[in-house]
Amino acid sequence: MPLPRTRGTALRQRLAELRGPDVPAKALDARALAALAANPGCARRAILDGAGVNKAALASALGAPSAFGQSQFALTRGNAFEAKVKADGGAELLRLVHDKLDRSAEPPADARVPDLTAAGPRGRTARTELELREAAGHPGAWTLLDHPMLALDVAGSPAFLEPDAVVVHPDGSWTVVEIKSFPLLDGSADAAKVGAAARQAAVYVLALEEVAARLGAEGAPAPRVRHRVLLVCPRDFSNLPAASAVDIRKQRAVTARQLTRLTRIEDIADALPEGTCFSPELPSDELTAAVESVPATYAPECLSACELAFHCRARSRQEGAVTSLGRPLRAELGGLTTVEDVLAAARGEAGDPDDPAVAALRRAAALRAEALEAACR
Ligand code: SF4
Repeated sequence: MPLPRTRGTALRQRLAELRGPDVPAKALDARALAALAANPGCARRAILDGAGVNKAALASALGAPSAFGQSQFALTRGNAFEAKVKADGGAELLRLVHDKLDRSAEPPADARVPDLTAAGPRGRTARTELELREAAGHPGAWTLLDHPMLALDVAGSPAFLEPDAVVVHPDGSWTVVEIKSFPLLDGSADAAKVGAAARQAAVYVLALEEVAARLGAEGAPAPRVRHRVLLVCPRDFSNLPAASAVDIRKQRAVTARQLTRLTRIEDIADALPEGTCFSPELPSDELTAAVESVPATYAPECLSACELAFHCRARSRQEGAVTSLGRPLRAELGGLTTVEDVLAAARGEAGDPDDPAVAALRRAAALRAEALEAACR
């Protein structure tokens, strides 16, 4: 839901201050949102993403550059593949949607491909919604929305998202299409990459469901947003498109739940010291102090999801936090949050002996001592 105007304006101003004077906001995309939802307890990531801070630039300024991002070559190749898939009014793309998701419908011919040009993300979002409403007035027709723009409320701030395409089927239902440059080999692709694409598509589906609910509230039946999305990739090592329907129900449910658990960005911003700023132009010690003023929940999973991972990992190790060894281990250790606490508990110097984690550590330490003694005999 959009923020009331005055509150929204004040928050936008506060977020601009956090970003730094004249630093443009980095738009929150679906990939970042999916990663944010995967670590909903991290206030640091939530405020940095909410304020539109460029985390890659920030990580470099902190002296811990990220290993993220595609090479220029990969970007160019990806863009060329997408253009090929969408050539001729999206004929090939629509053929793949028909073939993989809706064979009982009439094959797509003379599909509508409306112009979605508008000024700024809000204008483009409004234009997309208008064209989706318009498509509902053309039952039996296929409509292709090329790079539509959708808005999703994230922790009290709107995030603007741009799927590769959304297709309106003749029955009025909507499908999200993701075009990726990793190959489909013999009909299957790298599971981690497909998983990441599915999480990203789930974010688009959630945003589309908000649009569908709004259209439904106007009196007409709400359009169905399909929970099987179309993933289009190059076939084997060629640049010919191949497609696979991906069921994203699980990713959608997890992402929806996690997004509701995000601490409101406004509340995190209010808790920050006056004058906090994350501009990469600041001296490194000031910048480090600003970043450290926001609590973080580092886990090894951050390494594949967040540009600040090397910085947060170093801090987490410095503090001896057990989360740096993984969330499952952290869960096993209950109230013991640092490596120092764990070792003291194992040695019998601290900890409640009735605590199952402490008892297990002492048993493990005794077994280790026995084994070492036997080895030395
Ligand atoms: S790397 Fe740091 S900022 Fe990013 S999600 Fe992990 S803990 Fe949060």
